[in-house]
Amino acid sequence: MIDVLIVGTGNAALCAAIAASEGGASVLMIEKADEALAGGNTQYTAGAMRFAYDSGEDLLPLLEDPDDPRVPLTDFGSYPTTRFADDLLSFNDGQALRPEQHRLVSESYDAVRWLASHGVRFVPIYERQSFLKDGRHVFWGGLTLSARNEGVGLFEAERAAALAMGVSIRYDCAMVSLIDVDGCVSGVVAENAGGKRENIEARAVVLACGGFESNSEMRVTQMGAEWAAAKPRGTPFNTGDGLSVAWGLGAARHGSLGNAHATPMDRYMKDYGNLDIPAGERKKYRKICYFLGVMLNNNGQRFVDEGKNFRNYTYAQFGRAILEQPGHVAWQIFDSKVFALLYDEYRFDDAHFVEAETLDALCERCEDLDANAAMATLEQFNDAVDDTITFDPTQLDGKSAQGLDPPRANWAQRLDAPPFRAYPVTCGITFTYGGVKVSDSGVVLREDESWIAGLFACGEMVGGVFVAGYPGGSGLTSGAVFGRRAGEGAAGFAKDRTHNGSAATA
Ligand SMILES: Cc1cc2nc3c(=O)[nH]c(=O)nc-3n(C[C@H](O)[C@H](O)[C@H](O)COP(=O)(O)OP(=O)(O)OC[C@H]3O[C@@H](n4cnc5c(N)ncnc54)[C@H](O)[C@@H]3O)c2cc1C
Repeated sequence: MIDVLIVGTGNAALCAAIAASEGGASVLMIEKADEALAGGNTQYTAGAMRFAYDSGEDLLPLLEDPDDPRVPLTDFGSYPTTRFADDLLSFNDGQALRPEQHRLVSESYDAVRWLASHGVRFVPIYERQSFLKDGRHVFWGGLTLSARNEGVGLFEAERAAALAMGVSIRYDCAMVSLIDVDGCVSGVVAENAGGKRENIEARAVVLACGGFESNSEMRVTQMGAEWAAAKPRGTPFNTGDGLSVAWGLGAARHGSLGNAHATPMDRYMKDYGNLDIPAGERKKYRKICYFLGVMLNNNGQRFVDEGKNFRNYTYAQFGRAILEQPGHVAWQIFDSKVFALLYDEYRFDDAHFVEAETLDALCERCEDLDANAAMATLEQFNDAVDDTITFDPTQLDGKSAQGLDPPRANWAQRLDAPPFRAYPVTCGITFTYGGVKVSDSGVVLREDESWIAGLFACGEMVGGVFVAGYPGGSGLTSGAVFGRRAGEGAAGFAKDRTHNGSAATA
């Protein structure tokens, strides 16, 4: 019998597999998708990972090319655990830091070092997380590195490490239910693409099969009717299967089930993410440079402070804000002063936008937009811009637009340099925040905190890590921290079970 069976092949699952192998367990992974679509949301990511570090020196051992000539000209700054904790706290709706969040912060650097020791290579995110200032690359927002070749590179490096350690993977093999023997989870019932079912026995099972972002019915039930209109940005396979079986077995419902990571996306993006698009272009439907312009709903009104904070700290909440607007859409409006600062995703040949030489003409061209109301809002915005402060995207520059509702705290520049562009956006859901509760060793807990013997969980499935928002790059780190824990825990449990022949030590 296999020691540890892992459901899923994303980042959390692969971290669990590597850790379980390190713990001496035999490991089988099963994946609902075929081999080409395996790896879940992880393959769709930019591979960016947020972790605490004291200085640029801490980053050098992680870099694929520490001799890159840009490195000596780079200010990576520092991101101490206290700042990571504060960043999470700022999204906690006034609640204290949760145990899961303490764990994420305190183990983040160690988890990334551990990944590097297993062959994952990292590169500085110069294009998206730094600006050139006085000849130096200045990083902002505490997020500095991504895996080489983004999410695809992360997935491939982790999978190669797992396979090299003897882990087996079966694709087209979906977990449909759990096998419970005398109160101890002892394997899964799996179904292949042809609908054929089989029992796969194991001494411990790790659920790492994502949230319910791609299950429209579950989104509506757990989050509200408007979430039917949200478009999943990643894999179609994360349909809450793991959560349904765990909850069915008495697991506690834990964390912010009504909340999710959701970002502004091209209004005409395809349903789900698309792995056919080359890796470097996969984020092309995302539209997160709103902080350089103004965002209006179809009533012509602003509805968020576009410059409240660095976009790392706002982009995951603004998808929801757009979903709550009429028709679930909005317009991002820029003038030519900032065109060069817009990310590549605004320049792809299929990026949707309208362009005009005057703001009036622009508003008239925006489908469904109340042009008169929009013009009034834009004129009011232009009049409110504080001209005494110099625009500086490398820092919270305090260049506000005063007296507006909602306010505008930073990077406010007049829209006065033609041509003008308006990009239509909608809400893309990335992943859900609520899930199950786990112990320190990754065991799934019931409401009364008792253990569901033999059942572990990690990744998006773990609730309590993100409450009402998300500092960018934390999801993959969370998967690594909790995946590693769950893998170690499951290996230990399987070993005890082999020796004791029971689940007594759970
Ligand atoms: C477009 C996009 C960009 C992102 N960028 C970043 C980023 O740069 N940095 C960051 O930190 N986070 C990012 N995220 C978030 C990140 O993807 C997630 O936090 C993380 O990948 C989740 O890892 P996971 O292993 O829990 O889930 P996944 O990687 O989604 O893996 C879940 C796996 O379970 C499989 N599965 C589902 N149901 C079953 C079943 N019944 N049986 C068997 N297998 C099953 C799925 O097919 C999938 O392979 C991004 C997400 C998206 C969608």
